[in-house]
Amino acid sequence: MNIILFGPPGAGKGTQAVNISNNHKLYKISTGNLLREEVKNNTDIGQKIKSFLDKGMLVSDDIINDLIKLILSNIKIYNGLIFDGYPRNLQQAKELDLLIKEKKQKISCVINLDVDKESLVKRILGRQTCSNCGLIFNKFFNPVNKNNHKCEDKYIIKRSDDNEKTIRDRFETYINKTLPILRYYKEQNLLHQINGEGKIDDISNEISSIIASIVT
Ligand SMILES: [Zn+2]
Repeated sequence: MNIILFGPPGAGKGTQAVNISNNHKLYKISTGNLLREEVKNNTDIGQKIKSFLDKGMLVSDDIINDLIKLILSNIKIYNGLIFDGYPRNLQQAKELDLLIKEKKQKISCVINLDVDKESLVKRILGRQTCSNCGLIFNKFFNPVNKNNHKCEDKYIIKRSDDNEKTIRDRFETYINKTLPILRYYKEQNLLHQINGEGKIDDISNEISSIIASIVT
């Protein structure tokens, strides 16, 4: 079974990808990690990647496709993948279809964590983390107070890059890039929309039941 997971930045996609990977014994593929790994090991592909990164450019689709080809050829993880953050554009999605067919596999389902923009902004913008004990609160949904937290106020921090405009821009960029891909998978009857605003465990359970319902 091969699964693709989509979700806007800040929607908890990373957490869910790890959960799915653990619960269903799937190998998690993140292109970011793949790229770093190749650079670290100084492979042929790694050297090409490095020349893109050194110039501050996005790594080309050709290189991404080469990496995915390697992954799909790896017998140890044959037909047991969860893609996290890939494909990033329609071209990559179409290329993945060709590669995966070539390797006698298929995409079993595509799961999208659907989150409303305003609540996502609040979720990220309102995040309050205690640098002392590590507890996480939210100004809008679960504000820190004397009853739920014992450390001094000075330990409460917000991520510095989490200003509202950045979050909104990131969301818009994500939606614009992702909608055509989701449409593409919807036409193939592979797309499952999940409400990404519930509790982490509830979302995990919903994903699990979707996966359980798939006949491979
Ligand atoms: Zn604390």
